[in-house]
Amino acid sequence: MNKILIAEDEAAIANLIKTALDGPDYQCAWAADGITASDMLERDSYDLVLLDIMLPGADGYEVLEYCQALEVPVIFLTAKGTVEDRVRGLRLGAEDYITKPFELMELLARVETVLRRCGKTGRVLSLPPDIEIDTAARTVRRNGGPVALTAKEYDLLLLFFQNKNVALYRDSIYRKVWGEDFMGESRTVDLHIQRLRKKLGLENRLVAVYKIGYRLEV
Ligand code: CA
Repeated sequence: MNKILIAEDEAAIANLIKTALDGPDYQCAWAADGITASDMLERDSYDLVLLDIMLPGADGYEVLEYCQALEVPVIFLTAKGTVEDRVRGLRLGAEDYITKPFELMELLARVETVLRRCGKTGRVLSLPPDIEIDTAARTVRRNGGPVALTAKEYDLLLLFFQNKNVALYRDSIYRKVWGEDFMGESRTVDLHIQRLRKKLGLENRLVAVYKIGYRLEV
């Protein structure tokens, strides 16, 4: 199940997308302006944002920056279909770009592709040669045997699996796993990392990045 945020000020379009996507695979939430979208992104975690460019409050380009800080992939969804807009959106880091009006089948295909490319789908994620996460069952196996993790340890491991070879900032890790603003609680992150390393034999793979945080090396 992937959580998708639709940031779109036209209710009819948002409803159409929501109706098409909601089901066993996706759960959609809707924000009608850029400020609400940013607030929702801060409060909750999403796997993907379908982002209109012309939004009241804060426009799509501003919300995109926010999504990037939170490492949430974005598909731009917009009536602005000129080459310049397309290039600007992609250059700024959007994963894809859909011009309105669009076919729902095309939207579905692009959503699927982006989620797959960003490692957000699939029931079993693996870290060869020994570790597997079943994201539906929320279980972890090492060399085929179950490993007992606390809820926070699991969330932390999943975050690194979804961001392999990426240096994650301590405050970003804290916000995503603990769902709160970083209040200098770096010990909390460090202690959980130490336990994860020990439980999963990740001492040489979950490495500290000086002055930044941690990176899972693959
Ligand atoms: Ca709009």
